[in-house]
Amino acid sequence: MTEVPGNDASTSQPRTWPDDWKERKEGKDCPACAEGRTDDTGYGVRFFSGEVADAYLCRRATLPGYSVVVFRDRHVADLMDLTPKEVAAFFGEVQTVARLLTAVFKPAHVNYDFLGNAVPHVHGHVVLRYVDDPAPGRPIGPPDAREMSVDEFRRQLEELRAAAEG
Ligand SMILES: [Zn+2]
Repeated sequence: MTEVPGNDASTSQPRTWPDDWKERKEGKDCPACAEGRTDDTGYGVRFFSGEVADAYLCRRATLPGYSVVVFRDRHVADLMDLTPKEVAAFFGEVQTVARLLTAVFKPAHVNYDFLGNAVPHVHGHVVLRYVDDPAPGRPIGPPDAREMSVDEFRRQLEELRAAAEG
């Protein structure tokens, strides 16, 4: 187990991160742990359930297929704190999820964002990129995320679940 980093490291500016950030990294009030292995997180609906991770198609997305993969075995804030076996299992499942998404959405490229700035529990954002998306050659953020229609969302979810079963 590595030490939880960064609780008192600063750039000599007034603190902007939550006072209880270190406790949150250790699991205090963790929303990912509280929701458990649910089918619907509110922000998304599960289309993949593996040994150690669940993947959710997000209702709000900048681009089609935007999904989140959550490590589910225990509370871990940082990839550094996964055991070698957990890393292998988790990234194997992230790869499976990316393959499912690619089979359904046919993106030009796939981005993987591991941030944990809002929820310090290991999870990754899988962002599909398209040849006509608005930020070629750069990361693409969520500011212009839109909510999909219920029908569009249901259709995408059905395709992903069919791919996961196939
Ligand atoms: Zn957690």
